[in-house]
Amino acid sequence: MKICRYNDDRLGVVDGDDIVDVTQALDVLPSVRWPVPPGDLAIAHLGDLRGEIERLAASGERLARSGAVLKSPVANPDKIIGAPVNYLKHQDEAQKDAGINFGTDVKTINEYGLFLKANSSLVGPGEGVAAKFPDRRIDYEVELAVVVGRGGRDIGEGDALSHVAGYAIGIDMSVRGTEDRSYRKSLDSFSVLGPWLVTADEIADPGGLDLELSVNGEMKQSSNTSFLIFDVPQLIAYASRAFTLHPGDIIMTGTPEGVGPVAPGDVMTAWVESVGKMDVEVRA
Ligand code: MN
Repeated sequence: MKICRYNDDRLGVVDGDDIVDVTQALDVLPSVRWPVPPGDLAIAHLGDLRGEIERLAASGERLARSGAVLKSPVANPDKIIGAPVNYLKHQDEAQKDAGINFGTDVKTINEYGLFLKANSSLVGPGEGVAAKFPDRRIDYEVELAVVVGRGGRDIGEGDALSHVAGYAIGIDMSVRGTEDRSYRKSLDSFSVLGPWLVTADEIADPGGLDLELSVNGEMKQSSNTSFLIFDVPQLIAYASRAFTLHPGDIIMTGTPEGVGPVAPGDVMTAWVESVGKMDVEVRA
């Protein structure tokens, strides 16, 4: 099932080129009061929600996908986790290209561990990316994004995929420079998640998915998640040793080679096999 959030926080299920409005399914979510439980309420109750979505999908109003503004399918993550330098060929290009490394040593994910991106940087593809800091190089990074379903800590690799709610495409936007990643990658709109959440039952193995990104129709990145240094189960296990994972946490698994700059007016098209495709505009 492909679940999206669109327009004015409508909930939809994707059916071919259409979206079926199943917003009413949100009525099954419990009402909450302060302090709200950590994590995304819809992802935390995805099991109940799915039943309602399936029931409503048969009769819901349909609209063309092309006419909808797609938002991040996760509205309220507890955290966005990033994986630095998690493809060998990206490690190579980052070590060789001063435009990427800015004179800093490029280490391995074993040495860096993980990083966090501000939740306020999260947008959907329909919202576009704002290229703040016009004098700086701003890069795209296409990534497989994992959305945590069942939270936990000290999760074992063998059990890790049972904690996944689903998958999406992530674009981890980055200002190149010497500042800490959490600063360079947390500007408003610098975490794009979309075009929808594909529930985990549709992707048995996230370790063999092609992924691509083109800019203005020109292919820039083309790889496969089989080249991840830390694969999805390892990333979940590694992250959950440090921080408790909550429903809706987003893990951006790292980008393959081919990163490069974008400027206002550019359109990024990102695709992940079995997930989908999204166009994202860059604006000033
Ligand atoms: Mn990245």
